Amino acid sequence: MGRRSDGREESAHRRATQLTSEGLLPGVDYRPSPNCDDRPADEPIRLLVIHAISLPPGQFGGDGIARLFANCLDPEQHPYYREIQALRVSAHFLIRRRGEMIQFVPCRMRAWHAGVSQWRSRQCCNDFSIGVELEGSDQTPFTAPQYRRLVALTEVLRHHYPIEDIVGHSDIAPGRKTDPGPFFDWSRFHRMLIR
Ligand SMILES: [Zn+2]
Repeated sequence: MGRRSDGREESAHRRATQLTSEGLLPGVDYRPSPNCDDRPADEPIRLLVIHAISLPPGQFGGDGIARLFANCLDPEQHPYYREIQALRVSAHFLIRRRGEMIQFVPCRMRAWHAGVSQWRSRQCCNDFSIGVELEGSDQTPFTAPQYRRLVALTEVLRHHYPIEDIVGHSDIAPGRKTDPGPFFDWSRFHRMLIR
């Protein structure tokens, strides 16, 4: 009994620490987004940026986010989509409300998630960061499965890349962005990471 559960933990750990050389997470739903390009040469990945998004705003569970990142948002579906349909954006990962994850951009590529941004003295955070979107909003707490999935993902990414800092989009684009917002519980996230 003991040995079997040890074995399971071991293989779960092995699974959790793999990432292909392109930076794809095996077993994760991969929906390639065209909204990415090469990172600058010899630019290590130093930063993890946490975002929140919901489309339409405040509504969860639809296909709006995946459509936005694929440049095929239907402007007839919602008035807000008319405003944002010309955006060319993406993130490396999306973690949905029940913890399901979708990958849109391999970590080796530069996803277009941060926009005009600054971390320490460096601008253009997309060059050296990985962007993770949580399906959520400034008005709603995130779910326990989302925290668990985010912690597991963070551990994998830290295993592979020299990540020095984890920040919210609002930290690197203050005055312009508010996500992940007041309901993202940073102390809960950090406590789970340490454990
Ligand atoms: Zn954001």
